Amino acid sequence: MKRALLDPKSCQNCDPCQVQTRCPMQAVFRESTGEKPWVDFYRCSGCLKCKGFCPNQAVTEISHPCDGKRRMGW
Ligand code: SF4
Ligand code: SF4
Repeated sequence: MKRALLDPKSCQNCDPCQVQTRCPMQAVFRESTGEKPWVDFYRCSGCLKCKGFCPNQAVTEISHPCDGKRRMGW
């Protein structure tokens, strides 16, 4: 299972964040405009469309195995 992860070192804190605006799962959140956005792994489907949305290549991906009980261990 894959999920998008936003790299805070690459993120330029755009306003608005294109990843947050265009994510089809509304999985990206930001506490305030001064904070960098983050991905809610429970909402994120892992589609990785956001790699094409971010102009600063801040989207990385992580993989996490299923725990064998049809649950993800996020
Ligand atoms: S578009 Fe990319 S660089 Fe800009 S705030 Fe969103 S994740 Fe960060
Ligand atoms: S991988 Fe898909 S669902 Fe997850 S944050 Fe990116 S666009 Fe949204």
